[in-house]
Amino acid sequence: MSLDHRLLSLLVCPICKGPLQAGHGDDGRLLELRCPADRLAFPVRDGIPVMLEEEARSLAEPPAASPAEAGP
Ligand SMILES: [Zn+2]
Repeated sequence: MSLDHRLLSLLVCPICKGPLQAGHGDDGRLLELRCPADRLAFPVRDGIPVMLEEEARSLAEPPAASPAEAGP
């Protein structure tokens, strides 16, 4: 019954062809699909995963919500 699990079983990372992890928001909605190997998170828009490397968010960097570093 879970669309998330069906998606996850079908989708692999377009770069390394590895398995993806679901990233859920606070409301339990599927927000993104993460590849731990590439440290990329592919966005899910209106329930449709966008499996494009140029659309992916880097997991190597901290979220923009916490500007702890002062820059150069
Ligand atoms: Zn990957």
